[in-house]
Amino acid sequence: MNQLSYERPTSLAGAQHALAKPGAQALAGGTDLIVQLRERRRKADVLVDLKHVAELREIGETADGGLLVGPSASATDLLRDGRIPERYPALATSLGMIGSRQIQNRGTLGGNVCNAAPSADAIPPLICYGAQCHLVGPGGERTIAIEEFFKGPGKTNLADGEILARIVLPPQPAKAAAHYLRFTPRREMDIAVVGAGVWLALDDNNHIEAARIALASVAPTPIRSCSAEAALLNRPANAETFAKAALAAKEDVTPISDTRGSAEYRKSLVETLTRRALEACAAQLQS
Ligand SMILES: Cc1cc2nc3c(=O)[nH]c(=O)nc-3n(C[C@H](O)[C@H](O)[C@H](O)COP(=O)(O)OP(=O)(O)OC[C@H]3O[C@@H](n4cnc5c(N)ncnc54)[C@H](O)[C@@H]3O)c2cc1C
Repeated sequence: MNQLSYERPTSLAGAQHALAKPGAQALAGGTDLIVQLRERRRKADVLVDLKHVAELREIGETADGGLLVGPSASATDLLRDGRIPERYPALATSLGMIGSRQIQNRGTLGGNVCNAAPSADAIPPLICYGAQCHLVGPGGERTIAIEEFFKGPGKTNLADGEILARIVLPPQPAKAAAHYLRFTPRREMDIAVVGAGVWLALDDNNHIEAARIALASVAPTPIRSCSAEAALLNRPANAETFAKAALAAKEDVTPISDTRGSAEYRKSLVETLTRRALEACAAQLQS
């Protein structure tokens, strides 16, 4: 590791000031960044610790009944708060899958997003719930849909010096549910060979009026399966519809083969996990 300096701002303005320094990198829990620095996959001259900026850790309500999540809140903070498990359970499921208790105590939601790993577990549920990213930087403030945040493995649309300042979770319709499943060879401390997040909203006749399918580890960024979503729209929420949508999801993806699984294996997992997650959603909506 090269010589590093460390800054610990306590305000958003202080963080922005520190991040304007040459070679500055935002540091949250460090569970991705410190490993990458040690392995010389990333470089930094200044680490700007965002965990002491109170507003970046806050969890609050939006005026319309959604939730504002500070990116430096750890997975444990979010699970203990109770509002994520109650109102956004698929996101809570994914946070509970990250690493181990120790990793969840350190690792943050913002870090999981900004690290931009194609396998990141929290991203598919965020896409499913329609999350927005509020960004603050030298050019001012802007809000983008989470799906527009990613450019490639480890690459985001954050401009130089820009901070992810809030993740906004919109209120959910009464007849909507989401579910997240991943496949890993080990039960813990492993990353997804495939992850599948699904979200369904039903109309008064129990037909699907809106759907989102978000997949991890099958492309350079987390992706939505538009064909699977189209196969669900205006159809009854039943096994036949789900099987067709899951097949469409499989045909939508062109994953790579690597040490964790072949492309064919991943495609097969996409079909199985998508179908099972859709069935789990339907079960939630019936209960
Ligand atoms: C043993 C182990 C197991 C793991 N298992 C999993 C797993 O099962 N699933 C999974 O998805 N991940 C897993 N991870 C990866 C990691 O723990 C998560 O991605 C975690 O959420 C990262 O959060 P962090 O706060 O530690 O991020 P950091 O390492 O602090 O930061 C990650 C990146 O985000 C940037 N960043 C952080 N916050 C901001 C911000 N507010 N604005 C702009 N940029 C920011 C940093 O500059 C850095 O580039 C694992 C890691 C380890 C070491």
